[in-house]
Amino acid sequence: MNLKDPIEKLPLVGPTYGKRLEKLEIRTISDLLSHFPFRYDDFSLISPIARLRPGETVTIKGVVEKIKSEYTKHGKKIQKAQIKDNSGQIEATWFNQPFLAKTIKVGENYNFSGKVQFFGRQKTLVSPEYEMVQSPPLTTNYSLLTTIHTGRLVPIYNETYGISSKWLRSRIKNSLEILGEQIEELLPDEILQREGLMAEKEAIFQIHFPQNKEKAEKARYRLAFDELFLIQLAALQRKKEWQTKTTGQVFAVDQEKVLEFIEKLPFSLTSAQKRCLKEILDDLAKDQPMNRLLQGDVGSGKTVVAAAAAYVAFLNGFQTLLMAPTEILANQHHATLKTLLTPLGIPVELITSSHKSSAKSNPSTKLRTRVQKSKENNENIPKAIVGTHSLLYQDFDREKIGLVIIDEQHRFGVEQRALLSKKSGSPHFLTMTATPIPRTIALTLFGDLDLSLIDEMPEGRLKVKTWVVPQEKRQPAYEWIRGQVKGTAEQAFIICPLIEESESLSSVKAATKEFELLSQVIFPDLRLGLLHGRTKAAEKEQILTDFREGRLDILVATPVVEVGIDIPNATIMLIEAADRFGLAQLHQLRGRVGRSHRQSYCFLFTENENPLVIKRLKALETTYQGGKLAEIDLQLRGPGEIYGTRQHGFPDLRVASFTDLDLIQKTRQASKLIINSGQLENPVNSVLKQRLERYKIEAVTN
Ligand code: ADP
Ligand code: MG
Repeated sequence: MNLKDPIEKLPLVGPTYGKRLEKLEIRTISDLLSHFPFRYDDFSLISPIARLRPGETVTIKGVVEKIKSEYTKHGKKIQKAQIKDNSGQIEATWFNQPFLAKTIKVGENYNFSGKVQFFGRQKTLVSPEYEMVQSPPLTTNYSLLTTIHTGRLVPIYNETYGISSKWLRSRIKNSLEILGEQIEELLPDEILQREGLMAEKEAIFQIHFPQNKEKAEKARYRLAFDELFLIQLAALQRKKEWQTKTTGQVFAVDQEKVLEFIEKLPFSLTSAQKRCLKEILDDLAKDQPMNRLLQGDVGSGKTVVAAAAAYVAFLNGFQTLLMAPTEILANQHHATLKTLLTPLGIPVELITSSHKSSAKSNPSTKLRTRVQKSKENNENIPKAIVGTHSLLYQDFDREKIGLVIIDEQHRFGVEQRALLSKKSGSPHFLTMTATPIPRTIALTLFGDLDLSLIDEMPEGRLKVKTWVVPQEKRQPAYEWIRGQVKGTAEQAFIICPLIEESESLSSVKAATKEFELLSQVIFPDLRLGLLHGRTKAAEKEQILTDFREGRLDILVATPVVEVGIDIPNATIMLIEAADRFGLAQLHQLRGRVGRSHRQSYCFLFTENENPLVIKRLKALETTYQGGKLAEIDLQLRGPGEIYGTRQHGFPDLRVASFTDLDLIQKTRQASKLIINSGQLENPVNSVLKQRLERYKIEAVTN
């Protein structure tokens, strides 16, 4: 047997348990050993029975004198055991566990752990953990494991239906006994010593069954080190491969033409936009293809910067490909690029596939004919092509693509890149994102990308006035909204509560219900539209057009709907059950309004009265920087919760934390050392290489 074996191979784990374990993402024995406890019950205090004090949490070691299951006055089953040691005796009680009368054997030595209670002068242990004390196991290495449920720090795990912490403990103990010796050290001695780290094998052992609190702490630190180290090593490895294995095209950057482009804009660029544009243009002039992340809040003006880069590609005879996450956003980018680029003589083409399901394997004929037609028309003029991410799987001439702009997909996989590679080298890549990413996350997860940050909004933009609205102010708020939007050019969004991560049927139902209530009871005199993830593409387009052109006053939508849509007349954003969202996500939703010179407003509705929740939401009343809000949430709720959805591909860390700047810096140093020493290639450090597999980015397909 070995660590990579499927979990079913472990004694006492059959297909039934195997299925249940899958819910905890445990598939191999190694996965089981990586299922770390999130806390411990401290049962390490061992006490003679005579010395027990009320309220103490202890372990007693004794012999069971008798055990029986009986009925209480109220007809409930209760189990009582009499336990004795050299100093005295005590009763243990459980409720409704009649099987205990058979499992716990009279005359045998047991540990009992739990809280001591006194009923009059009678000492009792209520519902204690119990464990028969076995003779020490044969393997000397794990001789510490005489008990795992009592008499020590006892690990408590994430559980699932049919899988208790108690069950997990015994299976983990068993795997450690059988396979513990196979755990290989990941880090070279040099790093272990410099950082004073516990050895890998010991860390895995101690995190499950720690000898004491200090050891548990050291084990956790070591495993957190591994986690952040591997993430960064994977990123640095991607970067190195990108730098050594790919060649790109050197673009000539005609400064005068670029300046001309900038001067023709109806506004002047912010200094942040100028800085980011310079960073991008510097990249385009290198023979290494660009691999850069352009980050900036919604409305900070990323698209203009990207358009300038597309212009440079055009001047060099290359096409630009812009990929958006949804068709609606693709339409919008298409419109924006057209206004910016057609005056310069650059054709901007939109490729969307209405036969979405067949697009991957078999590009729609409609698409093919459209591409071919345009080929005939202006054969030699490089274009800007806009579409969704499914463009990747479609059939068009890749050789002419010089620049690829990717909107809101941070983790562009190796395989996806490969689909765009061509004989003449790789195109330049620019990823744009409005997702506020805390600096520490950017550094670790996107260590392979160069970062450009637009941290300033265009001048003259008014801040969106934001209020957390308690339940009793709901009616007045509705009235106020009516006053603003009725018979005026102004419009409002009402965002329904976040129900599940993806657009499930239940959130569609909830949105529909909310829409009915709003349109029939609250705002019968206004024109309302409804948009959710199951709205058909054509209908979606129609509703958005109606909204954009002022034929609707209020758009009711689910949260996952089209984050990027640009409706300048929308000045009100109402978010239901705001407490269910991350701050960064609320900030992004708020970015839908305030896109013109008009004063805009954001109402955060919540029924939650917890002062901490209110305080968290109130951060939005005073903070207008997405990055800062993301930092606050990262501290308060952890990365999994910041964005509300997994769409951004941020992994949940098992032990480490993205807020631990100190450890991030240490692990960064360590991963640099490994990359520079060439250990991943020659001679290959196979343990490291294998562990890195997990951190490879898999292609995300839409
Ligand atoms: P993003 O892509 O970052 O959300 P856009 O590039 O779409 O932002 O810009 C949002 C709006 O602001 C657009 O209408 C754009 O023309 C305008 N804009 C961009 N940069 C500036 C600027 N420096 N000054 C004024 N308006 C700007
Ligand atoms: Mg109106």
